[in-house]
Amino acid sequence: MNSHQSVIGQWLHRCNRCGTCKYIFRNYEPSCPSGEYYKLETYFASGRIAVARGLAVGDIHWQQSMLKPVFACTTCGSCQTQCMAPHREHIVDIIEELRGLAVDKLGPLPAHHDLAESIISKHNPYNATHHSRQIAEQLHLPAKADTILFMGCTANYRETSIRDATISILRKAGIDFTIVDEYCCGSPLLRVGQKAAARNVAEHNLHVIEMAGAERVVTPCAGCYRTLSKDYKNLGTDLGMEVIHSSQLADELLNGGKLKPKARGAIGRVTYHDPCHLGRHMGVYEEPRETLAALPVGFVEMQSNRNNAWCCGAGGGVKSSFPELAQATASMRLEQARSTDADVLVSTCPFCKRNLSDANRGHIDRVLDLVELVDEMT
Ligand code: SF4
Ligand code: SF4
Repeated sequence: MNSHQSVIGQWLHRCNRCGTCKYIFRNYEPSCPSGEYYKLETYFASGRIAVARGLAVGDIHWQQSMLKPVFACTTCGSCQTQCMAPHREHIVDIIEELRGLAVDKLGPLPAHHDLAESIISKHNPYNATHHSRQIAEQLHLPAKADTILFMGCTANYRETSIRDATISILRKAGIDFTIVDEYCCGSPLLRVGQKAAARNVAEHNLHVIEMAGAERVVTPCAGCYRTLSKDYKNLGTDLGMEVIHSSQLADELLNGGKLKPKARGAIGRVTYHDPCHLGRHMGVYEEPRETLAALPVGFVEMQSNRNNAWCCGAGGGVKSSFPELAQATASMRLEQARSTDADVLVSTCPFCKRNLSDANRGHIDRVLDLVELVDEMT
């Protein structure tokens, strides 16, 4: 057992089942999407920790009925924000370790099995024909450049307007960049307990990024940003260079004068959804807001924001395996956005945009990524 695992093992015994993780601290508003949806103890962090502790001490043993509570969690990390116990930052690690054990003992959930097969054979979770380097060729990008644009699979194969807006911004700002033969970053695998497969894609990505001789990597995906900056270190595939998110780049370019906002356009009131993997997991709260402040838009906060933001519902393998939970969670976030009277809900993660757009039933006029808004307004 390595030191990280031993910290997690000790933490199993520190949860006193106080229940603070179930609500936003002091506000008593809902905090946990899965607990709020299923209304049972095992679907809250406290219940999952109790299951992990029971397994660790031998009070209970693996059975099929445990799979749903173990996997029906978006790994949003809100429980970690609300919990007051020391070293609470390991709660999501415990859930992910539990998932790794579940995969070892009982195998992956069917949708997660298919997702992993697709990543292994097609290098993306969407079973789409792999085309990362073809994009670079179409755009006549060089083999080597100072900056790598790591597109991420959702932007590259599903929400392609986010990929195209990021490329447009990089070009407008005159940045020397290229696109490598990127594979899925591995985030979907890590979140559903398939670490060995994630290490393989990480090794490939490390190799192609090193070959490009870059100084930094920029990505418009919150999940890729967390994985490339944080998880790759734990996997032994540290990129050894700066990794930034597109919202940080946009802030740098707008507030550094390299991108000029147009005069006020047709965009009305804007509100902002903090993606869990950018906010709670990585602490990036201000740069997206500073970017919005540099644009001629009216900005309004939702009541639940920054580290208390309600999750979009897509992460942690939930959208593929528990679509009803993903939809219900997104609908709640859209209701929160509607209550601000905003015309546009902006996020900074292609997977958040996808899930919020799928659940949008006229709650809000437009769901956009920040880079799309920046590209439209510069
Ligand atoms: S995880 Fe933290 S907040 Fe939740 S029951 Fe345990 S100690 Fe309390
Ligand atoms: S990570 Fe999110 S969904 Fe999972 S237990 Fe914690 S608050 Fe609930």
